[in-house]
Amino acid sequence: MLTPSGPPPRSTLGELHKRRVRLMLWVGAALLVVLGVGWGLFFILKGAWAIVAADAVMLGVGISIAVLAHRKRTRMAFFLLVGSMFVLIVAMSLLLDVPTAQVPRSTHHFMLVLAVASLLFLRNDHVLLRYAVTGACFVAFVVLASTNMGIDSAYALPDSMRMGGTWVNNTFSAIGVYSLMHIMIADLAEHSSLEVDLRKGLVRGEFFLVYQPQVTSQGQVTGAEALLRWRHPTLGLVPPDEFIPLAEQTGLILPLGSWVLGTACTQLVVWSGQAGMAELTLSVNVSVQQFRQPDFVQQVQSVMDRTGVRAQQLKLELTESSLAHDMEDIILKMEKLKALGVGFSLDDFGTGYSSLNYLKRLPLDQLKIDQSFVRDVLTDPNDAAIACMVIGLGKSLHFTVIAEGVETEGQRAFLVQNDCHRFQGYLFSKPVPSAQFSEYFLKHTAASHV
Ligand code: C2E
Ligand code: MG
Ligand code: MG
Repeated sequence: MLTPSGPPPRSTLGELHKRRVRLMLWVGAALLVVLGVGWGLFFILKGAWAIVAADAVMLGVGISIAVLAHRKRTRMAFFLLVGSMFVLIVAMSLLLDVPTAQVPRSTHHFMLVLAVASLLFLRNDHVLLRYAVTGACFVAFVVLASTNMGIDSAYALPDSMRMGGTWVNNTFSAIGVYSLMHIMIADLAEHSSLEVDLRKGLVRGEFFLVYQPQVTSQGQVTGAEALLRWRHPTLGLVPPDEFIPLAEQTGLILPLGSWVLGTACTQLVVWSGQAGMAELTLSVNVSVQQFRQPDFVQQVQSVMDRTGVRAQQLKLELTESSLAHDMEDIILKMEKLKALGVGFSLDDFGTGYSSLNYLKRLPLDQLKIDQSFVRDVLTDPNDAAIACMVIGLGKSLHFTVIAEGVETEGQRAFLVQNDCHRFQGYLFSKPVPSAQFSEYFLKHTAASHV
């Protein structure tokens, strides 16, 4: 029997963060359920049916958040939690916890918990959204803490009860803020240690490229996409979705990106010297930060000079979202590279906010239908319509269209039927090391000529 050697890989940064966020949602859902049931019973005894109904809603919301968290729909669960908690804290502060000269209000302290939780959860979101949500919580906290606002109703709890409530509220809100700060510090420490590792990894040569074949509807291999991999000494393989955003935040994407370009071009030259592979194209992902460097065109030129690669074989992949700023500068650089013979592919097409107007101005060669549309192309009519729209658009603008993430024969057949004849996906091959790619190429190109 085979036993794994060495320690099992630790959870990666993203997994740990996701686990913490899910825990936060579970605690929030449990809190709503407990509060809903507790206050519900209390107000049933008092015969306050309007509040009992509100408590039943609270219970329902708590259960819904738990179900969403269980289904890993964390974003929706989070917004439901923040929205309902916000309303709940304000309502309880104004209706039940009305301050008196003897006992001040304490329910509003939970607004601070909510503010920190929002900051934590929305850390990768747009800065406006993040500060709008946390800002609203802080404003509500300040207003409730600085005034004795309250609704003079029969529901206001007596001071004797609110006195005990002060202890409960202060204890739990302090524990809440403390736990969230603890999570934040843990996230930060892991983040910075991964950043240090990323720097070391570059020096130690822990990065390598894998290549995913791109094929025609006849099964002929026309090229490959170079995809970056990081073998971390203790974490094992860290997915690019985790370390590329970090590399972008820290600026390390610049040396990393130039290593990718140099390595990919060196590989391409090796392949070009092999039988039948002279016309192979290689797509290289380029981050917007790389593209924004004033000397990016010269950098590409010098890599091509150094390695001896033919510009016509090189294709740079830009994502749609990277075109959001400085379009004029990007177009200028694209045109200069295009004049040298370098090709361009627009990656993840359909996921950004593209204006059709800019598409006709970009000197592109290829559109890549994003895998999120390909995945459900057979089951979701909207995704099918988007895929067909991209194919039509590509055709009328004279770009080739390639579908990525093709996993089944059914998806391939649908795409062929709708006039898409270039594919990349697990149906053909996963991204593989260079030697395996050569084997795949020889096997499939030879087979398609038979
Ligand atoms: P991308 O450029 O859109 O690359 C396609 C991703 O889809 C790759 O993930 C590939 O392994 C995956 N994929 C391909 N076929 C299938 C399929 O049939 N099913 C599924 N489920 N997935 C498929 P990977 O290698 O994890 O890369 C993720 C992203 O990281 C890339 O998305 C790209 O944005 C970025 N990336 C990778 N290498 C580099 C690089 O050298 N530089 C930069 N700037 N970004 C890179
Ligand atoms: Mg790509
Ligand atoms: Mg893509």
